[in-house]
Amino acid sequence: MSRATGTFDVVVVGARCAGSPLATLLAREGITVALIEQASFPSATLSSHIFEADGLAVLNRLGVIDRLQAAGAPMVNRVDFRVEDVHTVVPWPRESGDVGGLASVRRRVLDTVLADAAEQAGASVCMSTKAVGLLKDEGRVSGLRVADPTGEFELRARLVVGADGRSSTVARLAGARKYNVTANQRALYWAYFEAADMGSEPTFVSHRWGDRFLLGIPIDGGLYQVLVWPEFSERARLRADLEGTFMEQARSCEPIAKAIAGARRVDKIVGAVRWECYFRDAAGPGWVLAGDAGHFKDPAPGRGISDALHQAEALSAAIAVGLAGSDERLDEAMTRWGRWRDDEFAEHYWLASDLGAAGELPAVLPEVFRALHAKGRADVFFNLINHRAKPSKVLTPRRILGATLRALYRHRRPRVLAEVATLGAQDRRRRKLNRHPEYAAHEPSFEPADDPILTTARARRSF
Ligand SMILES: Cc1cc2nc3c(=O)[nH]c(=O)nc-3n(C[C@H](O)[C@H](O)[C@H](O)COP(=O)(O)OP(=O)(O)OC[C@H]3O[C@@H](n4cnc5c(N)ncnc54)[C@H](O)[C@@H]3O)c2cc1C
Repeated sequence: MSRATGTFDVVVVGARCAGSPLATLLAREGITVALIEQASFPSATLSSHIFEADGLAVLNRLGVIDRLQAAGAPMVNRVDFRVEDVHTVVPWPRESGDVGGLASVRRRVLDTVLADAAEQAGASVCMSTKAVGLLKDEGRVSGLRVADPTGEFELRARLVVGADGRSSTVARLAGARKYNVTANQRALYWAYFEAADMGSEPTFVSHRWGDRFLLGIPIDGGLYQVLVWPEFSERARLRADLEGTFMEQARSCEPIAKAIAGARRVDKIVGAVRWECYFRDAAGPGWVLAGDAGHFKDPAPGRGISDALHQAEALSAAIAVGLAGSDERLDEAMTRWGRWRDDEFAEHYWLASDLGAAGELPAVLPEVFRALHAKGRADVFFNLINHRAKPSKVLTPRRILGATLRALYRHRRPRVLAEVATLGAQDRRRRKLNRHPEYAAHEPSFEPADDPILTTARARRSF
């Protein structure tokens, strides 16, 4: 991984889940591409790392599954799922040709494999190289000013891709505006355990009841990952005793308690307390954003990685078409891709906010799952998380009506009616926002120091 010089068809900034696959796919098409990354891999990033069947399918097409499996990442094909009082253990849905249902691979492993694939495909990969400025010709972005340990230099390109994450430099320099911004309602902490009892079959545990929300999954390196999503009301307890509060929450979920009963925690408890979810303007003359640079959703459904992979595939195809024409045609292709992005991810964006919301879920939602499960169709629900079904196709008016009637039978009538009225109003507002986005009043700084993740909690190894 060396210094790139000269002129490329495309320069991509950021070499993780969005940038590296994009560079790989472009290079395989014979497109000249430089991939710029300020970090030096292997390097971790503040992100959990659970992803689903559709993301695994993209990784398979990229040809990196063997390397991930060599790192000891099991394919997880079963889910132990609880939502309020509905509990089941069922297969995670897969389509024919899928290599697995879910997986969880630490980012220092996953991102290194992805960047290596880009280099093998022929991209010029520059690590420890930071994008610091945009070059412009007659108002159109025409390349980047970058800095590496030896100094600053320029890279010219017909297209600059910002795959540089939430604090995207490309977005800031290009003036991309945020819209439909929402704030998280729960924090997230996770930890890894060795010698955990993972049972006879790798199983993803997802339990959400009352104020509790926990996930557990076997990961690479023979470890077991536990994630807890405390509400902000737990903040004082977490500040006073992170380890005690984390373990109390982890043990309140029966299958997770069983898995870690004889296990030992390795490494620190890490997490994030506050983040902002958003869309950003996707493209402009000579530039386009991919992955978190352009769109970040609540991590509750664990969709950021698969969505970045999904976007890389769609964007590489759009770029290949655009590069065959004039700069004007290329910019039009990027604008069209941006419209596709918003259309493709808008409904899931709101669903992610709902899954990460504080408090009990509205009573109708567990009822929708209960009815699907009773008909042997729990897969319909999990395919929402696989990004293979749109929320509007699963949470149909008919299903919501049936669920409301059942919820009225099981719960207090005023509560259910108030929840349904709120859901209806919220749905109408969101549909309007999808058509007429609400832009953030001002764009906060995107310097890394101002990252919206305000707190990273760490506890010493002491379990
Ligand atoms: C707390 C938390 C938990 C999460 N948990 C999950 C989960 O379990 N599953 C899941 O699917 N998703 C999860 N996500 C989301 C996931 O992390 C992101 O969606 C995913 O990393 C997006 O990949 P990306 O390539 O777009 O951006 P990033 O992974 O952020 O990569 C951007 C890269 O750009 C580089 N960069 C930035 N600026 C510059 C510059 N100026 N010059 C050069 N390089 C630059 C950075 O160094 C970085 O390597 C979580 C996110 C958070 C915050």
